[in-house]
Amino acid sequence: MKVAIYPGSFDPITKGHLDILKSGTEIFDKVIIAVARNSEKNPFLTVDERVMLIKESIKDMQNVEVDSFEGLTIDYAKQKGAQILLRGLRAVSDFEYEMQLSQTNSALSKEVKTVFLITKPKYNFISSSTIREIFLNNGDISMFVPQPVCDYLKSRNQ
Ligand code: ADP
Repeated sequence: MKVAIYPGSFDPITKGHLDILKSGTEIFDKVIIAVARNSEKNPFLTVDERVMLIKESIKDMQNVEVDSFEGLTIDYAKQKGAQILLRGLRAVSDFEYEMQLSQTNSALSKEVKTVFLITKPKYNFISSSTIREIFLNNGDISMFVPQPVCDYLKSRNQ
């Protein structure tokens, strides 16, 4: 059974993340989308909010588990019996960071491999940080995020 971890900040989850996740579920037997607890010092949403919004956004998907973790991603992967780390690539600008991360992880653990998927062109430019910026400046984020995220952020703002 091929189990993949899709780790990230997901602050908040976007349509780009969902596109990668969906492709992952078509390739692997199970994908665990996992919010990293230690990746950002000043998060926009709490880990519990991010996990809740991911759960709300994946209701129509099969073979997905939602979780959060602390510590090294490879240790978490081993603990979950996963052999694969799933990561998404948008533009060349993602490549250098992702390559460094992947090579570091493979130096730390030979058993866990990173697989990169490329998002659909229409989601290429979407990032959580841009969405936060648009939202905080009262712009419309509905085309970039799943409906539950849009609804939750709107309700939080009222
Ligand atoms: P991290 O802080 O670990 O980079 P993110 O939540 O920003 O966490 O991203 C998680 C993963 O999803 C990363 O591999 C990132 O490149 C990928 N990703 C983010 N946005 C998109 C997008 N629009 N399309 C495809 N992949 C994306």
